[in-house]
Amino acid sequence: MTYQLTVGLEVHVELKTKTKMFCGCANDPFNSKPNINVCPVCYGLPGALPLLNKEAVRLTFELGQALKGTIAETTFWARKNYFYPDLPKGYQISQSTSPLVEQARIEIDGVCHQIQRIHLEEDAGKSVHPNGLSGSLVNYNRAGVPLMEMVTEPDFHSAEDAKRFCQEIQRIVRALGISDADMEKGQMRCEANISVSVTEKLGEKVEVKNINSFRAVEKAIAYEYERQTELLDKGESVIHETRTWDSIASKTVSMRSKETSADYRYFPEPDLPIVEIEVGAVKSAQLPEDRRRALEAIGTPATIAQSLVDKQLDSRVLVINNREPEAAKEAAHLMLESTAFASLDLEDQIKLLSAKKSSGWTKDTLAGAMKEISNGKTAEEVIATYSEKFVLEPIIVEVITANQAAVNDYTSGKENALHFLVGQVMAKTKGKANINEVRTELQEYFKKS
Ligand SMILES: [Zn+2]
Repeated sequence: MTYQLTVGLEVHVELKTKTKMFCGCANDPFNSKPNINVCPVCYGLPGALPLLNKEAVRLTFELGQALKGTIAETTFWARKNYFYPDLPKGYQISQSTSPLVEQARIEIDGVCHQIQRIHLEEDAGKSVHPNGLSGSLVNYNRAGVPLMEMVTEPDFHSAEDAKRFCQEIQRIVRALGISDADMEKGQMRCEANISVSVTEKLGEKVEVKNINSFRAVEKAIAYEYERQTELLDKGESVIHETRTWDSIASKTVSMRSKETSADYRYFPEPDLPIVEIEVGAVKSAQLPEDRRRALEAIGTPATIAQSLVDKQLDSRVLVINNREPEAAKEAAHLMLESTAFASLDLEDQIKLLSAKKSSGWTKDTLAGAMKEISNGKTAEEVIATYSEKFVLEPIIVEVITANQAAVNDYTSGKENALHFLVGQVMAKTKGKANINEVRTELQEYFKKS
């Protein structure tokens, strides 16, 4: 039987704010000793009152705006109750019925993916289980870090598409400066709701948690598709349950079934006010997809455009295109091939590219010029030395005398021999002569002789 795979995604992203979601502690869960960035709010001590981090709300709106979502007019918070050692309060402050953003979308290669909601909550602490210790330890540095959750519609029908969506989210939040979204550090985490069916009606869904890499997104979905279709083929049914991705065994493992699923008993957070939002105050930002398109529109190949956007070098190429349209294509390649070029300032890049064109520099000449600039010379000085006029004739005579075999080859019709002779002359000028001039002068020389 042919089954249709359907996947909905939940993506968590830790926001790059200075302080935590509801207190003034530093948002720095990775670089500190354990339990340094903590206060009574983080610990949930009696009487401690949370205070809303405006910046976290602003970043979420900025993303919502960029993804063409509907921004909430008011927002309130809810307590999501559950017990876990890394959650000292016994509840997590989250949003249930009033997400900050609804009905957003992300377009990837012309395909539109719907995001149901984007809301904010606080991250939990981290339990550690050191070897040789009978108990466990808890580090609360992460407790209270702003955590944004995006929930998609059940909108994906292949593991590859779901993976690409997660990769695009990472690009977007990085491009907007919202999060570093490093999956290895847990700054970005994915969960997938996976079902299979033969009809339009969706099958029983299975939630897979703890997917910690893009590869794992693809593998976990593919694994579940196999597992669920095998069950159905045997006449058995898929159980609605939560499973976890075991990256070492490369399989999903059951965590809990629907009967024992958590009941979070959400109720309004009494310690935080309802906030009214002035939508006009949210600034809009440009998405990586739009930036890729701008590069493609000036003739940059898609894969190069993608890398330039990822490295945040795209706007430079566009500026170069405005000033020196003919150099933009070369600039796009050089930005990626040469870190020396990418690290020059924009004005020097433009000067070098136009000098290269007008003086017919080779790639080696350009590399030499860049090296001298990085050693402290100004672009003007370097361009002046490299573009100095050579009296070519004596050098040409010298090269011709020393390379009679090549000269014979050329005069007997082997065009390639000329390249060799040009190369010899260029070498004698240490690459500083104009290669086009050298070629013309050599040809002239042979015509005369
Ligand atoms: Zn705190």
